[in-house]
Amino acid sequence: MDYPARQGSGCVPLYLGVDDTDSLRGMCTTYLATELVRALSHVDLIGYPRLVRLNPNIPWKTRGNGAICLRLGRGRGPKFLVGEIEGRAVWAYPRGAAVSSMEYIAEAVARIVEAWAEFDDPRTNPAFVLLRHRPRPGLYWRAVRDVVAKEDALSAIRGLGIAREWKNGRGVIGAAAATAWRPRDRTYEVLAYRHPSRWGSRREIPAEPVRRLGERFPSTFNNYDWEEGRVVITPRTPCPILCGIRGDDPGELPSALASLGGEPPDRWLLFETNQGTDDHVLHHPEVARPWTTVDIEGTVASHPRTIVGGHVVVPVRWREPLDLVAYEPSKGFRDVVRALSPGDRVRAIGAVRETPRSVNLEKLQVITLASTIAKAANPPCPSCGKRMKSSGRAGPYRCRRCGVRRPQSDAPPVLRAREIDPGWYEPPVGSRRHLSQPLKRRFSARFDRKGGSRQNAQQGLPQFSRGADSLPTTSPAYLPADIKEDL
Ligand code: ATP
Repeated sequence: MDYPARQGSGCVPLYLGVDDTDSLRGMCTTYLATELVRALSHVDLIGYPRLVRLNPNIPWKTRGNGAICLRLGRGRGPKFLVGEIEGRAVWAYPRGAAVSSMEYIAEAVARIVEAWAEFDDPRTNPAFVLLRHRPRPGLYWRAVRDVVAKEDALSAIRGLGIAREWKNGRGVIGAAAATAWRPRDRTYEVLAYRHPSRWGSRREIPAEPVRRLGERFPSTFNNYDWEEGRVVITPRTPCPILCGIRGDDPGELPSALASLGGEPPDRWLLFETNQGTDDHVLHHPEVARPWTTVDIEGTVASHPRTIVGGHVVVPVRWREPLDLVAYEPSKGFRDVVRALSPGDRVRAIGAVRETPRSVNLEKLQVITLASTIAKAANPPCPSCGKRMKSSGRAGPYRCRRCGVRRPQSDAPPVLRAREIDPGWYEPPVGSRRHLSQPLKRRFSARFDRKGGSRQNAQQGLPQFSRGADSLPTTSPAYLPADIKEDL
């Protein structure tokens, strides 16, 4: 089956965005997507269902700050398989024509949200939007990179369709932002779900097929944490998800899922996502504001130190002094940070914390290494061979036995060998953020995204990698150059 890489743009009749239906105790907004697909069988899916991750630094997220977007209409063009729910195939179409049943669809969506959302959790504030036109992309970029006020999200969708909210309705921010996403870069994830009778029990996925996923299905990523020896395609929470396999080639993912064996999924759905794209990163910001993820270049100011808990901190000079931190879960990545020395030039991508003021590292590029000088051993006496003594900072060496003096130049300082090389480094798979672009993608010529040059990718190849509320409505710093005009 041919899986279209790009579809559905420009001619899609309805955009349905949903967010904030789950709690830490269970459920998952993507599972609700499967229930929506089931309930809305009288309309067609146009393009892939979408899983859109938003700012990973906002404190009120449940887990991965994900929202969903389904594009609905009357399908046109060759259909393609995007899932299976209780034995029935789920099809999507590359293009769509308008449907008139907007109120009817909204009622059906409201019933599904009311049946499935975790209303008892005080932090769950569901909402959905059903729009005839998608909001401008600036809403997506602000929601993935910064904090958006609910009023700003509502004004971005005013006049475009219907919004329904429950409780404080904060979910409308994510729901609207998900519909505003126009992918510049994209990946895919096949999510498999468990039969309700198994929710909360141990997931039975054998490790060996997971270890082989990367070799058998080369576009997949973040499957197995080789450093920790751990399967990372299965969540550790009691939610309905059995596993999720991510990759650049949507055509590989259903087969990758089928290759696993173990617990049979009750249903699966293939999502188009912004995971692994670094869309959340603010490149070259003027200031490092809390709750944003920045990409900055600076010089190591002093030696790294390991603090209580095993976290490693290294101070850098940037526009302001900043601490870069590799937290304990980043395991061997901390050794890279520990190996830095004053004067090293580095590029750091990470989330800004207000207290203590620091950047939580997601990726690190060592640009240049400073020459570090080690003191040479005192020279031997040319007369008796005994090791000579130093007579102060600038003074000559003296032999205590024969009184011979030799100049300091007899023992020139030596350059200390460094334990790291220039190049890119990233934490192991198990401690990466959903949105973080894995180095595997960053440097893969095959998946080099629009505008990325192969030569640059080669030049920057990693030398070493461990494991693989209110914002001004226009804030151009948060927007990629190519969409500024769309604000
Ligand atoms: P899961 O990933 O398991 O679906 P979650 O981590 O997405 O859960 P939610 O329950 O969706 O968590 O909570 C996130 C809340 O934050 C939603 O109400 C969403 O509308 C809101 N939100 C998302 N991004 C932003 C943002 N950039 N600024 C302000 N609010 C946001």
